[in-house]
Amino acid sequence: MNFLTNLLPTVSFPPALRVKPGQRIELKSSSEIETMRAASKIVATVLKEISELTAAGMTTADLDDHAEKRIREMGATPSFKGYHGFPASICASVNNEVVHGIPRKRKVIKSGDVVKIDTGAYYEGFHGDSCITIAVGKVKPAAERLIEAAQAALYAGIEQVKPGNTLMDIAGAIEDSIKASRFTVVEDFTGHGVGRNLHEEPAVFNFRNKRAPNVTLQPGMTLAIEPIVNAGTKHTRTLSDRWTVVTLDRALSAQWEHTVLVTDAGYEILTDRSKI
Ligand code: MG
Ligand code: MG
Repeated sequence: MNFLTNLLPTVSFPPALRVKPGQRIELKSSSEIETMRAASKIVATVLKEISELTAAGMTTADLDDHAEKRIREMGATPSFKGYHGFPASICASVNNEVVHGIPRKRKVIKSGDVVKIDTGAYYEGFHGDSCITIAVGKVKPAAERLIEAAQAALYAGIEQVKPGNTLMDIAGAIEDSIKASRFTVVEDFTGHGVGRNLHEEPAVFNFRNKRAPNVTLQPGMTLAIEPIVNAGTKHTRTLSDRWTVVTLDRALSAQWEHTVLVTDAGYEILTDRSKI
């Protein structure tokens, strides 16, 4: 099991498949769902603000400062800060960085950058978790297409969320959506259950995988769905800071994530920014 197991925002593969004895998927009660709505709304608010304020010349540390300040102002604590030793409240992964980028004072954002901001808030015992990709200034058309393809893949997966469908319905829809765009789906990381723990069962795959435990969706499940889409190879590697994951070929990567509740009728996107 490598160091990245159970890290933000995803659980590395294949250790995620090692379901511990006794571990189960928690169905949230209506009052717990209310709390998760509140935690997720804080996340959505912070990401909406960051999407609006991010500009060339700022540093990723500036964005982290804003996120931490706002999460705390809203009565929550940053889910990521200190999680397995992660030093910040957001993951800020720029261009060829895939996930887990550490915000840095010397990391200046430039026009044309593709910036993934992932954050979580812990509020009254529950977490919300979401990620956006920001096109800074004028980005190349190919980058724009990648960002849109990643977002389309997320929504293709979310559309499969309803009682009776399975995790592999989500995975298959995401995989098909990305393949149709001719980009590649990163297989080294998965989404996850979210609730009392930032990462809990089940692993939510972004591609069909016969070895993955398939699970039938039930009302009350809360899932973080988070496809990662690369412009080039699907393969990744981790830098010597032991956090930042980059594409093996240095090509661009994009990711979107929502915390999603399985409802009686289908789904509710708890981290929906359009409601803010
Ligand atoms: Mg996340
Ligand atoms: Mg996540």
